[in-house]
Amino acid sequence: MEQAEIGLIGLGVMGSNLALNIAEKGNKIAVFNRTQEATKKFYAEAGALQSQIIPCETLEEFVAAIRPPRPIIIMIKAGDPVDQQMELLKPYLSAGDIMIDAGNANFRDTMRRFDSLKDSPLTFIGMGVSGGEEGARHGPSIMVGGTEESWKRVEKVLTSISAKFNGDPCVAWLGNDGAGHFVKTIHNGIEYADMQMIAEIYGILRDGLKLSAPEISKVFGNWNTGRLNSYLIEITEKVLAAADPITGQPMVDVILDAAGQKGTGKWSVIEAQNLGVAATGIEAAVAGRILSSQKAERVEAEKILGLPDTLAFPAVDGVAFLKDLESALLAAKIGAYAQGFAVMAAASKEYGWHLPMPTIAKIWRAGCIIRSQFLDEITSAFTKDPDVANLIVTPAFAALVKETDGALRRVVSTAALAGLPVPALASALSYFDSYRRSRGTANLIQAQRDFFGAHGFDRVDGVDKHHGPWGSGAAIY
Ligand code: NDP
Repeated sequence: MEQAEIGLIGLGVMGSNLALNIAEKGNKIAVFNRTQEATKKFYAEAGALQSQIIPCETLEEFVAAIRPPRPIIIMIKAGDPVDQQMELLKPYLSAGDIMIDAGNANFRDTMRRFDSLKDSPLTFIGMGVSGGEEGARHGPSIMVGGTEESWKRVEKVLTSISAKFNGDPCVAWLGNDGAGHFVKTIHNGIEYADMQMIAEIYGILRDGLKLSAPEISKVFGNWNTGRLNSYLIEITEKVLAAADPITGQPMVDVILDAAGQKGTGKWSVIEAQNLGVAATGIEAAVAGRILSSQKAERVEAEKILGLPDTLAFPAVDGVAFLKDLESALLAAKIGAYAQGFAVMAAASKEYGWHLPMPTIAKIWRAGCIIRSQFLDEITSAFTKDPDVANLIVTPAFAALVKETDGALRRVVSTAALAGLPVPALASALSYFDSYRRSRGTANLIQAQRDFFGAHGFDRVDGVDKHHGPWGSGAAIY
């Protein structure tokens, strides 16, 4: 039998769709799943693609079915299962084989795994895959980390299965060891922020303007034809238009308001903090999900505290305010993306990855969950100025911020006065206001720190004196 050119372990939601995608693009693939029933079911349902697939019951059979040197994608539950699977696989592998972890790994695990194989004849690739089930099946965005040499060996097959934006494949080698999984993590962090901001705007439309879900759906549908055009706005329109088959009510109205999370948002925040980068939009989004999940506590708190007195939404001109909401969402989104890219720039320096910012924006333009028109604009901005300190000071985005931040200010203040929570939108506004202000207020913090801890400070006039006159003899104005 003709050997497969690639193997895949893990026929769950992502793995099975990725395997079909690989087979459909003309690549012969061997597949294996811990639970054999899943392999049988997968093969039985593969239809015309069966001829491209070799289903295997044991790891030994699986490895033997792939032509060496073997690229093997591991698409299973992230964490310990990946280490366990690698250990089970290793005895069957030979020199030059590449294990590719395609799950949502923490990049620190990826670096550890990469390191553990560094002096062995085996190689490791950490590969972020975005696009969910649909993306995996028809073209995901793929972020690859590992040696350039191992990337070259899988480039062809990964290019064949990736999403395309105007013909450009949405896959790239981003750097050594953990680079791919780090970028995927920040992609997800930005996704958290984007979704939170959309939900906050939905809250204003629902609880402020008192629009029904189908009416809000039309608003998002309309925005999707403009500058906010993106996958997340598109699915928001669809989700809000759907009816619950059981009650006939809008589907969103019968869904519990408690959001789940698996970890990549939290990792983004932790890494941003570790790197000393303010990622306030992602932080607000993760905190928003945590608060949402405390449903029982919130129900009790509403009984005790009540809703704010100012609940009546101020009179606003519907059309102008809708325009403001659209611009506010765009402004806040710019803030979140700028922060995400700033985190990646800092990580790139810290870990010596040389992350290519224009390429990252490019491979997110299609296939992934945050795909949008807007990423094309980010690609252009970073192509013109790849080392810029922050996206919002590039000429194109500075102009956009100046154009839209007034709307963001009006929306945030209107929501605050009405007692509607908008933590992510407000964080973006404060981020712009802090970042653009050359003289901030941290001089007072420095004075306080010096007062209680003798931490010292720098003076604006450069005078070589670093402590204040806080003692008993201090002059008082
Ligand atoms: P599923 O829950 O659908 O499938 C999990 C797979 O992992 C199954 O094949 C399962 O095998 C296997 N598995 C679990 N534990 C072990 C173990 N100890 N040893 C060997 N195999 C094991 O998950 P998904 O396909 O959704 O996710 C797979 C990976 O892709 C995860 O890392 C996830 O975070 C990531 N991802 C998911 C996305 C999504 O939208 N769902 C998007 C992007 C990435 P078995 O059948 O035997 O239980």
